[in-house]
Amino acid sequence: MPSRCPELLELRRINDSAAAEFSLPAIANPARVPNFIPFPFFMPASLFSNLSSQRLAPCDLCGHSHFTIVADKDRHGQPLQTVICQSCGLVSTNPRPTDEELESFYRDEYRKSYKQVVKPKPKHVYRAGLVALERLHYLLPILRHGQSVLDFGAGGGELLFMLRGLGYQVQGIEPNLGYGGAARDHLGLPVQVTHYQHAQVAPESLDVVTCFHVVEHLAHPIEALSVMAGWTKPNGLVLIEVPHVLSRCQWPHSRYHLGHLHHYSSSTLSLAGQKAGLTPMDSFTSPDGGNVMVVFQKTHTPAASEISALPGHATRVLKHLRGHTALAHLKSAYPYLRPFEKMASRVHEQIALSQRRDAHAILDHLLDRAKEIAKSLNDDDRPQGSMGLASLVSAA
Ligand SMILES: [Zn+2]
Repeated sequence: MPSRCPELLELRRINDSAAAEFSLPAIANPARVPNFIPFPFFMPASLFSNLSSQRLAPCDLCGHSHFTIVADKDRHGQPLQTVICQSCGLVSTNPRPTDEELESFYRDEYRKSYKQVVKPKPKHVYRAGLVALERLHYLLPILRHGQSVLDFGAGGGELLFMLRGLGYQVQGIEPNLGYGGAARDHLGLPVQVTHYQHAQVAPESLDVVTCFHVVEHLAHPIEALSVMAGWTKPNGLVLIEVPHVLSRCQWPHSRYHLGHLHHYSSSTLSLAGQKAGLTPMDSFTSPDGGNVMVVFQKTHTPAASEISALPGHATRVLKHLRGHTALAHLKSAYPYLRPFEKMASRVHEQIALSQRRDAHAILDHLLDRAKEIAKSLNDDDRPQGSMGLASLVSAA
């Protein structure tokens, strides 16, 4: 766990001390954050209660308390202060909602706020199923047939459904009542609908823990990663994927919102895992650069948990954030390609959903494609005599 600073710095003091080293014009102006933060229609009022009056917390990764403000609004133009830690380069919402507010939000409100639904509609199941298929391309090569896999933040259970259909022993944890309940009750998946702090998982019982786009939502990432490590067998793997703070594929203004409490690079995500006792073995980014994944192993070698800074990393991240302007984004291909890609995917979606509306039927349809992916990986990609990265790592 990071060392906690005994005294939290006031907002004004942080700005005074940080601005000298990393001067960010215009966007680094805490005076623009009002005392009263209006409640946006898409977020529950409880998440914003007293946020503006809270003091800043030390960095969740390194424990230091020297920050530079990188944004004062979220993607919807609502006041939200985002800072970067000068010691390790972790970008975070700070101050942020309390643990109690966050737990209530993810249990009851999260899906409603973002997708205006309580349970997944057929189109959500289909889209999440397609994402699960994409994940199989890099997940299957590191799995051995029949291994036990826990999906931390299982959502509607789409990935677990695919893995179960491919012969793996699966279970999941999902805090949202609507989505986790649908996975458990309609798809018949062993999903615990609860927060990870309350989940019942036998120590060192899992071969692999997967966690896609969850860690950025967590207030205490090292604690969560430590819990995952505790559930994992010796030499087992923990796969973490999060949005990449160094991405360029989205509009700059859309980067920040209250749901994402932390914004990681491969370096800061690797350090978080190390502080949780895990060893980073590999990392890679998605083809569009929007996501970063780190594959950790629970090794016998003690991780470098004493590391408290990543020299130069904050400068690198800041340079990226300052350089990724709306004009720079307009000059890239992303704003012009994405509408066409989205239009094409919606046509396929309409065709697929016109023939099936039930979640089980939709995922059964996609499972056929999952089996084709598994077969192609077996035929082409796996090293002869090996079962993929897991075996290669074990042999190293
Ligand atoms: Zn830090």
